[in-house]
Amino acid sequence: MNRISHWIDGRIVASTSGNSAPVFDPSTGLQSGAVDLASIAEVDAAVASAAAAFPAWRATSLSKRAEIMFRMRELVDANRDEIAKLLTAEHGKVLSDSLGEVARGLENIEFACGVPQLIKGEYSEQASTGVDVFSIRQPLGVVAGITPFNFPAMVPMWMFANALACGNTFVLKPSEKDPSVTMLLAELLSKAGLPDGCFNVVQGDKVAVDRLLEHDDVEAVSFVGSTPIAKYIYETGTRNGKRVQALGGAKNHMLVLADADIDMAADAAVSAAYGSAGERCMAISVVLAADSIADDLVAAIAERIPNVKVGAGMALDSEMGPLVTAESRDRVLGYIDGAPGDGATMVVDGRVGIPSDGFYVNPTLLDHVTVDMAAYRDEIFGPVLGVMRVAGFEEGLDIINANPYANGTAIFTRDGGAARQFQFDVQVGMVGINVPVPVPVSYYSFGGWKASLFGDTHMYGPEGINFYTRGKVITSRWPDPATSAVDLGFPVTR
Ligand code: NAD
Repeated sequence: MNRISHWIDGRIVASTSGNSAPVFDPSTGLQSGAVDLASIAEVDAAVASAAAAFPAWRATSLSKRAEIMFRMRELVDANRDEIAKLLTAEHGKVLSDSLGEVARGLENIEFACGVPQLIKGEYSEQASTGVDVFSIRQPLGVVAGITPFNFPAMVPMWMFANALACGNTFVLKPSEKDPSVTMLLAELLSKAGLPDGCFNVVQGDKVAVDRLLEHDDVEAVSFVGSTPIAKYIYETGTRNGKRVQALGGAKNHMLVLADADIDMAADAAVSAAYGSAGERCMAISVVLAADSIADDLVAAIAERIPNVKVGAGMALDSEMGPLVTAESRDRVLGYIDGAPGDGATMVVDGRVGIPSDGFYVNPTLLDHVTVDMAAYRDEIFGPVLGVMRVAGFEEGLDIINANPYANGTAIFTRDGGAARQFQFDVQVGMVGINVPVPVPVSYYSFGGWKASLFGDTHMYGPEGINFYTRGKVITSRWPDPATSAVDLGFPVTR
């Protein structure tokens, strides 16, 4: 049985906590490994290693730090297949999707290669006579990342690339459901030349998370996961004086107006709802269809569903894999079971034809969904798409803005004015115009609003650089001794 341990101080460290959790192959449902769950002492060891590495790492030149990021970029690029396979083996998503995840994560390492440019301060010569003022950004110290199961490679890369490039040292607590890929990333960082202790991985559960949240030497916490845990992380971390960014769950709507191209909208809805079996925080889970085209759109989506090839992630022709655990599968099936009783119409029933092995749920399409149904209110996080019928733009916009989640949304239309009004009025952090999954590129920042984000800063990109640094402003004078005099007045510009 494969045992997955910690990475502390540049090497694999087996846990002595005596606690572990099973890791499964979601395509068979069989246990493939066991992940160590850290004790408080093991978290402390990881933080101590990161704290010890920090002074030398922050003093390492920008060009040297950038050089290590460039090398990491090359290593991730060269190991795409291995990373993707490891990821698919434990997450279950299909290989092409895993490769996409690696590619989007890699963008963040590429962004971080530009750290000398990104971290530049400002300089005002002669702010006062003979006085110059300039600003610099400095790293925080030891920062922690706590990541979800659904992007076990990309989300850690969202965090550690910028954090390390800015001169911080890092402790990562990955999801216990698919932990192996982070060990490979740790090994690659080491091969890239990152000094021991700068990047550590502690495998674990709530015990490890709580220790990171209260540890005096952890300066900041980046979290991605479900909304209740995000709120908990934000409240606990900030109460303990830490800088926290905590990204939560989602319920993403796609508004399809009457003038939209039905085939394009149907292709987009199927791709965005069932890609990665719906286990994406940017998945579309609700289509708001203008009444006049709703029947045609539902028919076009339903027509495409039988063509989605559901199968093991490792099989090259699979387009959609299983869910991550039996628990996830059963939760998703519960929503499907309950939907007709709540008044939804079952157009395509994903319970039919599920393979007997593994954690599969087939693509499911519900019509006539309303805002009071559990299948609408909750984040299902599975391959279940609900269609709601709306009179048009205004009603669709109102529904989106009334939803507590606000991660991503999309509008499908050929009307530029409607699209612009949507972008202006919609209260959601990431917006697609005829783009169903508008994940920002790495040189913008990623984050939702409302219950999809706790904290002020979005993740990666320019906001990531700000999150992992703090500003310092220096006011400097190199006076001519000949002009020196005692002056007790308040310093004013001259
Ligand atoms: P999760 O909240 O269950 O777990 C996330 C992390 O928190 C894991 O590392 C886990 O070990 C830890 N954790 C879980 N319960 C905890 C507790 N009680 N106390 C302390 N730590 C705890 O999320 P998940 O199921 O791994 O991931 C799916 C969720 O993540 C979905 O809600 C999805 O929308 C969300 N997500 C959001 C984004 C985003 O950018 N907004 C991105 C990806 C995933």
